[in-house]
Amino acid sequence: MLKQIIQQHIRQYGPMSVANYMAFCLQHPEYGYYRKAQAVGAEGDFITAPEISQIFGDMIGLWLIDCWQQMGAPMNIALVELGPGRGTLSADVLRRWSKVQKQCPALQLDLHLVESNETLREQQKERLWQHEPRWHSDMSTLPADKPLFVLANEFFDALPIQQWVGEEERQVSLTEEGALCFVPQGDVTNETCPAALEILDTLCGRIQRQSGLALIIDYGYDTLSAQNGRTRDTLQALKQHRFHDPLDDCGEVDLTAHVDFAALKAAAQGHGLRASDIETQGMFLQRLGGELWLHKLLKATDDVVQREALGQGWQRLVSSSQMGELFKVLAITPHTITPGGFA
Ligand code: SAH
Repeated sequence: MLKQIIQQHIRQYGPMSVANYMAFCLQHPEYGYYRKAQAVGAEGDFITAPEISQIFGDMIGLWLIDCWQQMGAPMNIALVELGPGRGTLSADVLRRWSKVQKQCPALQLDLHLVESNETLREQQKERLWQHEPRWHSDMSTLPADKPLFVLANEFFDALPIQQWVGEEERQVSLTEEGALCFVPQGDVTNETCPAALEILDTLCGRIQRQSGLALIIDYGYDTLSAQNGRTRDTLQALKQHRFHDPLDDCGEVDLTAHVDFAALKAAAQGHGLRASDIETQGMFLQRLGGELWLHKLLKATDDVVQREALGQGWQRLVSSSQMGELFKVLAITPHTITPGGFA
């Protein structure tokens, strides 16, 4: 259905950019992937770190608490998650914060979720209702009067990218038979993600004005694209945990691209904020003491199946053959603090 809409659009207006094609596939009001699909989780198309192991959210929760203390423990803050999926990361993070809240009854921590997918909003509500979350379609409606503690796990990879073949922007067009195809032919030499930079700009402006921080975790690379002449084509489609043709089954498959962390880091520095090293997820979690946390969790259960799942989950998060190296972490904070987890 969506494919026909796209084909019709191309017949009428000519080829569309890859960015526009991604926006159609992911955000079309009726048939876009993120408007309806049961995307995340073991039964969905892809599984994410918080769904694999609670150690991920536990570590990030503790990391946030440490940063918050370094910032002088402000009593009125907003926890913001961009693209919260099934709400698991926020739930795990808030479980850690509940300990702080007990010791610190004056602490007012509001939960704000930026989410475009109605189905996922329902799932988030089920998971997080006791924290009385507020939902937003974008960042413009987030509170403006308190520090924002922003988490984005596998959010930036879903934003539309532009691709370039030499000087020419790559587009989606129609073959003579009317099938979707890329033009011009040839290797993609560069990718850019204006949507990511726009969001980062807004985010950094907010952090500048209101204080707070952002932790971005995603699969991506850390070399500046401009300095790197190699071919780079990271547009990918995933359906039920397998790679798929990005021009097939429009709106039914998850379309993503790797995140250019160096570009995000440079943009944050341009705002006068402190941008961390671009660290691998494996190193970040190890440095935060994830392994000790694993042993703490193992001690708490005799259940063999649960123990095995805990060990395997941890391995999946940190091992270099799984998520450990492909996934990168970038923390954006004020210069006054030194976030944990980085060298
Ligand atoms: N952070 C979650 C889910 C990642 S999947 C996890 O780690 O499990 C990507 C999430 O971003 C989904 O919740 C999706 O609906 C949301 N999303 C994608 N594009 C978006 C956009 N432009 N605006 C708001 N939410 C978006």
